[in-house]
Amino acid sequence: MEPPALSADKSDPSSRPLLTMHDIDITFGGVAALRHARLSVAAGEVHALIGQNGAGKSTLIKILTGAYRRTAGTIHFDGREVDFRTPKEARAAGISTIYQEINLVPFRSVAENIFLGREPRRFGMIDWKSVRAKARELLDSFGLQIDVEKPVRDHSTAIQQMVALARAVSSDAKMVIMDESTSSLDEREVELLFNVVRRLRDDGRAVIFVSHRLDELYALCDRVTVMRDGQTVAESALADMDKLQLVTTMLGRSLAAVVHEDSAVKEANLAKRGGVALAAKALASGTKVTGVSLDVHAGEAVGLAGLLGSGRTETMRLIFGADRPERGSLTIGGQPVTLKSPQDAIARGVAYLTEDRKAEGIVPELSVRDNLTLVCLRTLTKHGVVDVAKQREIVERFIESLGIKLRSPDQPIRELSGGNQQKVLLARWLATNPKLLLLDEPTRGIDVGAKADVAKIVRELRDSGLAVLLSASELEELTAVADRAVVIRDGETVAELDGARMTEASIMDAIAYGSGEQSTLAQAVSESEGTQG
Ligand code: ADP
Ligand code: MG
Repeated sequence: MEPPALSADKSDPSSRPLLTMHDIDITFGGVAALRHARLSVAAGEVHALIGQNGAGKSTLIKILTGAYRRTAGTIHFDGREVDFRTPKEARAAGISTIYQEINLVPFRSVAENIFLGREPRRFGMIDWKSVRAKARELLDSFGLQIDVEKPVRDHSTAIQQMVALARAVSSDAKMVIMDESTSSLDEREVELLFNVVRRLRDDGRAVIFVSHRLDELYALCDRVTVMRDGQTVAESALADMDKLQLVTTMLGRSLAAVVHEDSAVKEANLAKRGGVALAAKALASGTKVTGVSLDVHAGEAVGLAGLLGSGRTETMRLIFGADRPERGSLTIGGQPVTLKSPQDAIARGVAYLTEDRKAEGIVPELSVRDNLTLVCLRTLTKHGVVDVAKQREIVERFIESLGIKLRSPDQPIRELSGGNQQKVLLARWLATNPKLLLLDEPTRGIDVGAKADVAKIVRELRDSGLAVLLSASELEELTAVADRAVVIRDGETVAELDGARMTEASIMDAIAYGSGEQSTLAQAVSESEGTQG
């Protein structure tokens, strides 16, 4: 069940593309963000551009619209080779972009915004009456009756977006790009917006639609381009790819490689786990976390699974008191809690190894010793004096037990390899004697050997009775360590899979289908075979 080949698309007779981007490269600070990326969009279609966070979607769009300069590649638009140097040039050529943060003038009226710079005139003067009437007529055709004389800032985000779309329609935009512009809208607003998008398509315009909500794509889009790690990895009619294929393509895992693994150990572990160390119910905050429920018992490791950008880090931050939930409840060690700060969480035995070792973790200039005891230092200090003997004992104990390779504890941490730095950070938290350990991508960016070490350490911690909640983008790494997986999608818990039911395949299945229409993998496979005819 491989995704359709890239070349299959070229013979598609329906598409004389309006836009073709070929072999696009760009680097940021020496790092390649796009490598031979491609995108081909025909007039009269809604084209989905998808991929995990950081895959390169926005960068590709910014190159098209002249906001970024590519280092290689060609772009054809509307029958000629183009090279827009500014977004203004792209707009003039008929490409209109709608971002989540909308580029309207907030204090001007809806009507003014729609016709800004193109106002109908009479006798050389702006004909305001006609501006308002035309705006009303246009929005009316979208099924939207609003006060066009009110400033745009007084309207909801959804309406602001429709105003932006109306502006695109009334100008002669040939292509409209919506980059994650629906992510803050509710269902009803999304539906209204979709109707407008469909009208644009039926008018023969092209729409590029970037969204991580898979359900939305199927409701709206005709074709899809999938990006991964800066490359275009699939182009296809959306009807030819089911959700499971989209997910496996985004993740870069073929289903054939996804195997069930021996789960006897996990089952045994779950059977002897302890009491509930953490219970989160319907946690919500902003647009990133909309309804996460999960629990973690003492003596078990729970994997928090989901695509990049699904809200895993944001969930951990809520549990650690780094952000405050707007709704929902948290129970830690059997006590309902309202965490005001990480200090509150730490006092309750919560430890949090952040995803970004460099930005939030290590203090590069400090020694390994100081880095390791950074959080527990408080408990080692009496009347302003650090108990040096105790500190040394702790440092030595963790260097030994975690197998940290170094010359001396006095060595600056920046001189250590990534894997050893990660172990020092882990030790920093273990030195606080936590009951609940939150590990966000603990194996990212470290070598294979160190990965195996970290996995082994996590299992030992679990066996010693610690409650562990960990995330890992690599499902293989997640299922290797976790006894159970909680799957979140768009900030919401969609599935819980334990022991034998937790496999890479079942997790992908949940990411693709959620819980509402959750199918077994077998069903999904046969469905996709069905649609491929
Ligand atoms: P997506 O929109 O698919 O989530 P982006 O296009 O935003 O992904 O990012 C692709 C990659 O390029 C990421 O690794 C991101 O960090 C990097 N990137 C994007 N813009 C910049 C920039 N202005 N400077 C440095 N790196 C960038
Ligand atoms: Mg983006």
